[in-house]
Amino acid sequence: MYDQSPFKSDFAVFSHPDNTELCYLDSAATCLTPKVVAEAMYQYQSFSHANSHKGLYRLSASATERVEQARVSVAEFIGADADELVFTFGTTEAINLVANSFVRPRLSADKNIVISCAEHHANLLPWQRLCQQTGAELRVASLTPQGLLDVAELAALLDDNTCFIAISHISNVLGGLNPVEQVCRLARQQSIPVLIDGAQAVSHGPVDVKHLDCDFYAFSGHKLYGPAGCGVLFARADCIEVMEPDTLGGGIVEQVTLTETRFIDGPMKFEPGSHNVAAICGLVAAIDYIRGIGWPALVAYMDELSVYLHQQLGDLPFIKPLIPGASGAWLCSFQCQGVHSHDVAGMLDGDDIAVRAGHHCAQPLHHYLGLKSSVRVSLGLYNGREDIDRLVASLKHTYQLLAAD
Ligand code: PMP
Repeated sequence: MYDQSPFKSDFAVFSHPDNTELCYLDSAATCLTPKVVAEAMYQYQSFSHANSHKGLYRLSASATERVEQARVSVAEFIGADADELVFTFGTTEAINLVANSFVRPRLSADKNIVISCAEHHANLLPWQRLCQQTGAELRVASLTPQGLLDVAELAALLDDNTCFIAISHISNVLGGLNPVEQVCRLARQQSIPVLIDGAQAVSHGPVDVKHLDCDFYAFSGHKLYGPAGCGVLFARADCIEVMEPDTLGGGIVEQVTLTETRFIDGPMKFEPGSHNVAAICGLVAAIDYIRGIGWPALVAYMDELSVYLHQQLGDLPFIKPLIPGASGAWLCSFQCQGVHSHDVAGMLDGDDIAVRAGHHCAQPLHHYLGLKSSVRVSLGLYNGREDIDRLVASLKHTYQLLAAD
């Protein structure tokens, strides 16, 4: 086990004079990007930038080729086919796309949608609104004591009127791996389409959407050591075929008259306007970076580090994890006894330690746990034992200074 991460030098941020002492423990919000990602974006933006899919000249054709090669490479990364892969702005846009283009036309007052109480707002609000607008019912499965989706409860919520299931692969607050294979199997048996919110899971190990047998899988580049502004929606080919685009604009039409439009086939019909090619290049570079390390080495490193994190926090009696004993997670959300979460984050920031405090876009989950907020510490490849030791020292100091008697 390393005190300092062997991957840390891949990340330029730590060599900047402002950041030599930075202890970044907020990777569940966004990962820092390795140099190779920034370099790929810089190279494209500086020397090859053009509007993809539109121009008939060399530079534009090369931008088109980059996007389409990226589609192949990213699809391969999650076991999908390229014609099932839609580039979006991020997970949020991907889920909204499915809500508006796939679920809305199939929903009516007699139907229901099933989610869990641990969903990020991005995987709650679109379904909540659809149900409000149509009179459909939003059914919510709760969690096991280990903080995972309760599949038995979810199964009991399904019936002939269940129109859709939308579940996170890993909660951004609790961090455990949900049994999504079981959910997909149940869904398939009952012919219910299912979306997996993979925002947190995509950096945690190989994802194979064909093996999972889900209909939709969404994730964001910036949670995968890539840039913000580029995400992915995997949608099964037969789903893509029946979905109508919701966001409309240039580049998605076969033919348009002033009164009618015929859309193109395939994933590009959900990509109106101009592609963010630099971000797409960054995402490909991030995937190549992860491939270069290899999943077994990456997972082994992160697993070992997370064991240390949970052990060290477990030794602090004033730290109360939201789910005690949930040690498999690469993050830990907790409360510090007698100190408000925001004060904890403020004190840690004083020691140049970056963590997240608040409800982490999961207010209903905090409500379910009887809390208003928590502190979340989340690990990335650049972290080593020294970061956790610094965190522990700073938490002890915070508690001594601020805890109410
Ligand atoms: N779902 C989960 C589980 C997340 O953690 C996040 C990001 N915090 C999102 C969805 C939304 O992702 P984005 O902000 O990149 O659209």
